Amino acid sequence: MNILVLNTGSSSLKFQIIDTDYEKIEKSEDKQLAKGLIERIGSDKADLTFQITGQDKYKKTMPLADHKQAIDEIVNWLTDSNTHIDGISSLKDIHAIGHRTVHGGEKFSSSVRIDENVVAMVEECVGLAPLHNPANLKGIAAASETFGKDIPQVAVFDTAFHTTMPEKAYLYAVPYNYYTDYKVRKYGFHGTSHRFVSYRYRTLKGLTPEQTKIITMHMGNGCSACAIDHGKSIDTSMGMTPLEGMMMGTRAGDLDSSLIEYVAHKENVSCEEIFNVINKKSGLFGVSGLTNDMRDLEAEAQKGHKRAQIALDMFAYRAKKYIGSYMAAMNGADAIIFTGGIGENGFEARANICNGLTAIGIEIDPELNAKAIRGAEMKISSSTSKVEVWVIPTNEELIIARDTFRIVSAK
Ligand code: AMP
Repeated sequence: MNILVLNTGSSSLKFQIIDTDYEKIEKSEDKQLAKGLIERIGSDKADLTFQITGQDKYKKTMPLADHKQAIDEIVNWLTDSNTHIDGISSLKDIHAIGHRTVHGGEKFSSSVRIDENVVAMVEECVGLAPLHNPANLKGIAAASETFGKDIPQVAVFDTAFHTTMPEKAYLYAVPYNYYTDYKVRKYGFHGTSHRFVSYRYRTLKGLTPEQTKIITMHMGNGCSACAIDHGKSIDTSMGMTPLEGMMMGTRAGDLDSSLIEYVAHKENVSCEEIFNVINKKSGLFGVSGLTNDMRDLEAEAQKGHKRAQIALDMFAYRAKKYIGSYMAAMNGADAIIFTGGIGENGFEARANICNGLTAIGIEIDPELNAKAIRGAEMKISSSTSKVEVWVIPTNEELIIARDTFRIVSAK
């Protein structure tokens, strides 16, 4: 079954087409047929990049008023007589659509087929994810317009994997009615990624969910850690919004919330302005004053840039503390898994995080660690490490395609 996987941002749209079915899932032989990225939707100069798997990229720039036009352009490309994708010649060859959907609140503990009720519930969660959910809803509406009401569409939520967290993990220590009246609680994000890499680890090791205690470290521009006990998320570092937790590219992560009012007062600006700084101008970028890009920071630190070095030290120190706290939460762990742009490639970051953890049984092998880059799926811990350390590339699109297939095919 050919699944179109859509990841819709406020002015961007990423897609993949994945051919999957029960047999392909079983054998891990799902086929990515094509992918693409459209940026600057809503402008006269939207950038479109499309690629058939294994072939050169096709790029163009054109005006695109909205997400509907963006999806129409994907369809035009897919069905163009010059585009030859195995098994796709018309709109009918796309059998279902899977949408990455950021916030499902407490309502969705798994992926669901989209209908009017689901759309209404995703709308209800807009207040909790004001940047993401409206964009996801635009993607759903635009896909229905282009493909017609009859094509099955499925929502796969970033938050769903974390709905297994117990109250003691997801409640904040604030008046209880904030939770009951306003839904203030930890929801967690990157759930599809944490779910995928923990599943891959179990598959590679031939283990059942019940046999594992895993800490997954998704480290990209956004970063989150997750404690997965018996296959279930029992705690995660992102919170009510993706701001809490680890230090990130531009987000501060954990901090004393009273600094918001304090700095707003000092700078004579509103709390909203400081809040914006904490989201968009903090983290690696804010501390270094240079960039949110880990590679560039490492290069600058090598040249002796002091604040770049401080930012790197903070990043590793804070990540290390999450590993320690999740080891405490689960009374140990069998494996730590790194994923995301930094987790998959940043061997220096991985080394800095794991160094000095021998007391809790974690020791990486420097040679293996240096080899784990560019999509490698491998163990990087030493033979004497009690806890295994792995690098496993994430593949959120694959989970979305598989969930979509399963839901659409269920009798
Ligand atoms: P993502 O959001 O998952 O695409 O990850 C983006 C982050 O991954 C950026 O901070 C990049 O600098 C970082 N990254 C990508 N490649 C490398 C690399 N080879 N070494 C260190 N960090 C990297």
